[in-house]
Amino acid sequence: MDNTIEEKLDELCEECKKKDESVIHNFMLTGFKICKSCKLSKTLFPI
Ligand SMILES: [Zn+2]
Repeated sequence: MDNTIEEKLDELCEECKKKDESVIHNFMLTGFKICKSCKLSKTLFPI
């Protein structure tokens, strides 16, 4: 039994490494752990 897999959602943005409550929200929406400003720059400059 591994209960270590239980992943705790943290608010750390994977792009800028800053904490923001929007990270969790964006993760649920997009699957990316990014804050709102990083999401905005991804939207403006899609890869
Ligand atoms: Zn960010």
